[in-house]
Amino acid sequence: MPNSTERSELHDSACPLAAIDRRLDDVHRHWHSAERAYFEPQAFRVAIQTAIQTLRTVTFILQSNKHLIPEFDAWYAPWQERLKADALMRWMVDARNKIEKQGDLEAHSFVRAEIVASYLDNGPVMDVPAKLFEGPRVILKGIPKKSELGDHIVKFGTLRIQRRWVENSLPNYELLEAVAIAYGRIAELVHDAHRAIGRDPPTTVDAETGEQYAPGRGGKMPCMIGHGDARTINISLSDGKRFDLTHLAIPADVEEGRKSAEKYGLQPDKIWDATGDQEAVLNSLFRSARRMTETDGYHVTMSVLLRGNKPVRLAQVEFPDQGAKYVVMRDMANEVTKLAADGVILIGEGWRAKADASKPYMRAADAPDRIEMLHAVLVRREGDPVELIADFRRQGDQVRLADTHTVRGGQHYMFAPIYNAWGRVLPDDWKK
Ligand SMILES: [Zn+2]
Ligand SMILES: [Zn+2]
Repeated sequence: MPNSTERSELHDSACPLAAIDRRLDDVHRHWHSAERAYFEPQAFRVAIQTAIQTLRTVTFILQSNKHLIPEFDAWYAPWQERLKADALMRWMVDARNKIEKQGDLEAHSFVRAEIVASYLDNGPVMDVPAKLFEGPRVILKGIPKKSELGDHIVKFGTLRIQRRWVENSLPNYELLEAVAIAYGRIAELVHDAHRAIGRDPPTTVDAETGEQYAPGRGGKMPCMIGHGDARTINISLSDGKRFDLTHLAIPADVEEGRKSAEKYGLQPDKIWDATGDQEAVLNSLFRSARRMTETDGYHVTMSVLLRGNKPVRLAQVEFPDQGAKYVVMRDMANEVTKLAADGVILIGEGWRAKADASKPYMRAADAPDRIEMLHAVLVRREGDPVELIADFRRQGDQVRLADTHTVRGGQHYMFAPIYNAWGRVLPDDWKK
């Protein structure tokens, strides 16, 4: 998804480091120019090279303003060490020297094709020069036939095709991503310079909604994360159809919320319990979801990203098939990083299998005597998952729900990409 909304950093009006802040923001702008020009080789070359050159000048300007920072040398030396020890940052310095003294970078456009057929494992990847790319057919031929793995891939796999710019001397990075990471490292330095003069580091805001983002993300702006999705095509291997990630963000509309609360006979302030912790949010949302399910006879699947007990993103999600789940959950993990979320709730209908000891690993949806349920799972940066379950009891057209059960812990392997984003180790019993 392209990011249409621009984010910027907000400084207090009298920030003494304004010259440095502005130059850093110039890098951010040049980065977006490169992103916009991704499919125009000449424009991309100019913009990405300008971003790399401008990034280098941020530290020059910082050094020429050293009088602003008390005990500058003692503060700056460890930063210099850190940047020197960083291979990517060294590459940026060399690249800038090359651009200014020798000529252009040797950037090449590739098409990367990879197969996603699980929540975490990386499937086969193939990089082909863009002009030689023959389309998905070639990659599909490489899938092993008649193995269990091959079957799984064909049934549940997704082929992701992505355009990438790669520079000869930096083969392991996509170039735009490399510059975003380097921007983040320098932004952290600039933020620390604010702390060194006793000021708060700038806050990141969404220019349109005024929403503030928590710090983190390795200094990157939220709009610099996950940009690869915009130039990615997803093709389902089972039917060869292209699909887009539907992650409709649902803006919080107070008036709409009031109306729909009325429809379901709910009190608006009870739908979202903002007085307790994330589990209190989960409980309040589930109570409302029960009411909606019994009224409408169904419930759509929704994801709620939380920071503390506050929602930072509500979205309706769709899982047309198992393959889409892999892609959607990986994408959700990107959003978690972008928004520095520390809790995720997924709420919707599902199936649970009646326990069958002879087939412990059968997917609930495939079980013969499966039970329809409304359920919600909360996973958190810290603490165990919590799941709420209420079984469906159909009475003619009417849906009634059994009592809500709470399950702590439990296996929630589909959230593995989100645990990864938090740097959490997966519980042993998750992976079957
Ligand atoms: Zn500032
Ligand atoms: Zn931006």
